[in-house]
Amino acid sequence: MNRTKRMLLENIAWATESAHGDPAFFEGLALGQSPKALWIGCSDSRVPAEIVTNCSPGDLFVHRNIANLFSPADDNAMSVLEYAVKVLKVPDIIVCGHYGCGGVKAALLPVPSDLPHVARRIAPLCSLAHTHGDELDEFAGIDERVNRLAELNVMAQVRAIRATSIVHDADHAPRVHGWIFGLHDGRIKVLMSGDPHLPNGATSSRMVSVREYLHAVETMAS
Ligand SMILES: [Zn+2]
Repeated sequence: MNRTKRMLLENIAWATESAHGDPAFFEGLALGQSPKALWIGCSDSRVPAEIVTNCSPGDLFVHRNIANLFSPADDNAMSVLEYAVKVLKVPDIIVCGHYGCGGVKAALLPVPSDLPHVARRIAPLCSLAHTHGDELDEFAGIDERVNRLAELNVMAQVRAIRATSIVHDADHAPRVHGWIFGLHDGRIKVLMSGDPHLPNGATSSRMVSVREYLHAVETMAS
């Protein structure tokens, strides 16, 4: 059986199991959406937003592109942000990059002349790598440089989203978080929390584990 036929069969299995587990599931989906968060992630097939966070259909409003980039000049990304904040009123926006990102790595290698669209998309990453050239040069290997640039990239996108009038001027401004996913262990690390009172708030770049982050949340709540 070819792959696309297999996918269609799996869809039938999934729909059947979902309806069996919750007879009102699809009725609820058809009524409308009220997602918990806007997820801006990389298109990489290994970082599917819903799966790595154990979310269900309806939980996340998702925008993915190569290297999880955001730019006010990008109508695609801006329209997603605008709809998520002004219409869906999501309380949280998550920029989630990942280690070993091919888009980030491409920014550290010679410009691919046969991929003009990719080259244009990652141009801001090339600038970011140039800006942080001294720091990146401290890493001996390309993989370490890629991973550090992936972190810097997430934080740059968080700052860019926070600076938009859509977020800045919102009646209830959403929290904007910077996360990074590890392909080697499936764990997410918090680079920037959406709350300046928690570890890695507005400006810190020290990473915390999710366990440490959740402990801080519980401490604040108690
Ligand atoms: Zn990637």
